Amino acid sequence: MFRPLRYLLDLFFPLLCPCCRKPIDSESELICPSCKGTIRLTEHVVKQGNMVEQMFGDIQKVTCAASFAYYTDESALRRAIHALKYGGRPQLGEWLGQWAASEMKRQNEEWFDKVDAIVPVPLHPKKQRKRGYNQSYEIALGVAQVIAKPVIDDALSKVVDNPTQTHMTIEQRKQNSQGVFLLNNLRATELRGKHLLLIDDVVTTGSTLRDCIRCLTPLRGTTIQVMTLAVPANNLRSSTLNT
Ligand SMILES: [Zn+2]
Repeated sequence: MFRPLRYLLDLFFPLLCPCCRKPIDSESELICPSCKGTIRLTEHVVKQGNMVEQMFGDIQKVTCAASFAYYTDESALRRAIHALKYGGRPQLGEWLGQWAASEMKRQNEEWFDKVDAIVPVPLHPKKQRKRGYNQSYEIALGVAQVIAKPVIDDALSKVVDNPTQTHMTIEQRKQNSQGVFLLNNLRATELRGKHLLLIDDVVTTGSTLRDCIRCLTPLRGTTIQVMTLAVPANNLRSSTLNT
């Protein structure tokens, strides 16, 4: 951006950290260093059989899975994802995706090696129109910058706008998310035999991602790797982050 204009914008609308609401000095950071420092990384990429892999342990097509960091109700990461989903800040998704992928790659250089393409979990069109963007797609864009693979954002579509899961039990969530995604048959040839990186913002029970994986199951030779930004650190029921 033209510098004097950027200066004026910063003067009147300083970029605020979504976690603590304090102004951020750096042009390249979207979360302030002190909040960033509190985010607890999972290091799942170096932990075979980690808690996210266990959620998909019964699905052969899933070769590995990982969340980038833990969140709790009061954590900086929860606030950042809340701002990404409900605060009209899509840039946070790309920034978080880029940070997550570079850090995960640093932890395990080979973790992304087999990926051919990135598939974000879709939003229902009605919800996407209202929000203006799909947060998982924004995260995928950030990941793509690090691993240099294409994002295929129309591989899946969400055809049922299921109610928000905030106050549901785990059982209700599982039922709520079944059969709501469809595979785009026009993309089938392209996706067949590929290794796909399926991306979502948060994984709680794994039911949304399982439903997406079920749609990809008919593709012969296709394998899947799951990545999310966040996973709850403790009680799943305390989670208040939903699509
Ligand atoms: Zn902050």
